[in-house]
Amino acid sequence: MKLADLFDCLLLDLDGVVYIGDAPTPGAGETIKRLRDDGKSVIFITNDPKRTAHGYSERLRGLGVETAPEDIITSGMALAHHIKSAHGDVGGMKAYVVGSGSLKKEIGLTGLSVIEGEEAYHADFVIVGGHPDFHYNELKTATIAVRNGAHFFATNRDPFYPSSEGLIPATGAILACIEVASGKTAVTVGKPESIMFEVALAEHLHRDKKRLVIIGDRLDTDIAGGKRAGIITILTLTGSTKREDIAGSDIKPDYVINDLRDLYKDAPGA
Ligand SMILES: [Mg+2]
Repeated sequence: MKLADLFDCLLLDLDGVVYIGDAPTPGAGETIKRLRDDGKSVIFITNDPKRTAHGYSERLRGLGVETAPEDIITSGMALAHHIKSAHGDVGGMKAYVVGSGSLKKEIGLTGLSVIEGEEAYHADFVIVGGHPDFHYNELKTATIAVRNGAHFFATNRDPFYPSSEGLIPATGAILACIEVASGKTAVTVGKPESIMFEVALAEHLHRDKKRLVIIGDRLDTDIAGGKRAGIITILTLTGSTKREDIAGSDIKPDYVINDLRDLYKDAPGA
């Protein structure tokens, strides 16, 4: 029996699992196509808030992996979902967003007005997601707003992510600056928090949870989050984690693969 035969629905992380920078991981496109040809659902679940689901859909298409936006869950979507369910009608309330244009758009869809400049010193919400244009002025505005009592949220705490140049700063690194300066700790929703999985499962409730698996490249987010949500976990070694890192961690994946092609190798113990 192949490892893939154990599952009907596969939740795949993106960075470090499907691609690194602009390059797909070995066999990613062919394996995803084969999984779908075999009748399996493939859902992408990413902590990276830089793009909307539509943006990720385009990116995947560029790598030869046709995917509908409905099959992509981002931490920005999970955060928007969480704010709506935790705070109800936020119409008329104001948010200062440290993040990409995509994240600002996602937050705007909740009904919050996204504001900038000195007006943002009195925002009701400060929302943080990593983006490559992070500037001292964003750190300053977010710090003042949080110190003035804004609700403080971030998409995730990933400290870094794999790129073609090596491991580079992610949302967690930017968030740490604002937390240090404001003296407050943000509420996060991305993996390993269960909210991310709840949103994924709510969107795809017809899928059988028992035959569900998450495939990720980080122990502290993908694997820890999957375990917390009661989902089987597979660590792939194509991204942030090396095989020797597993021994030093309390978080143990159910399976370890070298890359996605290993899904079509014999399942251990099968
Ligand atoms: Mg990853």
